[in-house]
Amino acid sequence: MPTLSDVRQPRAVAIVRGAIARGRLHHALLLTGPRGAGKRDLALAVASALNCDTAPGEGCGVCAVCERITNGIHPDVITLAREGAAQIIPIETVRQQVVAAVGLPPHEAKERVFVIDEATALQPAAANALLKTLEEPPARTRFILGTTAPDQLLPTIRSRCQRVSLGALDADARRAAGDEALATAAEALIDAIDRGPGAAIRVAQKVSEEKLDAGAVVELAAVELGGRATAAARAGALGPARRDGARAQALIAAHVALDLHNGNPGVSIEAIVHRLARVSA
Ligand SMILES: [Zn+2]
Repeated sequence: MPTLSDVRQPRAVAIVRGAIARGRLHHALLLTGPRGAGKRDLALAVASALNCDTAPGEGCGVCAVCERITNGIHPDVITLAREGAAQIIPIETVRQQVVAAVGLPPHEAKERVFVIDEATALQPAAANALLKTLEEPPARTRFILGTTAPDQLLPTIRSRCQRVSLGALDADARRAAGDEALATAAEALIDAIDRGPGAAIRVAQKVSEEKLDAGAVVELAAVELGGRATAAARAGALGPARRDGARAQALIAAHVALDLHNGNPGVSIEAIVHRLARVSA
């Protein structure tokens, strides 16, 4: 049950918390950041902060309003997610769920909130249908768009939103956010770099068995290594700092390999560890 204080993105949280406190929250936010950064949690936390009576401006996470928002069953907090094999948000969805709804006041909320998980999934026609509403927002209605690729959005959508950027989360933050399997796999991937092919195969199997997002595991491992490099550098340990920094960069570069083996995350993880073994040698 995300509240603002549960979202481990101090800068982004400070921006929205301050804006809510001053009654100056922009009617359309664009949350940008990598997968797993907590964009959806932040969007729901903002919806709670705007509507919770127990802790106005913050959200309590446990009252009936907050619970329904968290569980996705609040009638005025509506999430538009990708649909179907094409993983898009079609214009019909925008018409039915947004355009038709905004002609009427919210059912019960103080502030109605539309959450669009990945705004680049809006079909061009759907994005255009949304534009007018974004331009002339009805009273007590807010939009929170999320995206990993803001540059791919229509400039007209971008320009109508206030952008709030979220950074990548490290393994500890991911674990705190309940992403134990992903955090464990990322750390196992880092260990596998030292231990070699046998360990790599085990990580690859784990990623396949647990149906983890291989790309997210690699990203998280890179963030973690980057954090270790920074900590080592601050402690004056320049050798380890350089090594971990190089590994982090190599992991990012290995994303290319991952894309090549998109259909088979296990192959990708093994290929990546092979590359990194050369970096570490
Ligand atoms: Zn509450």
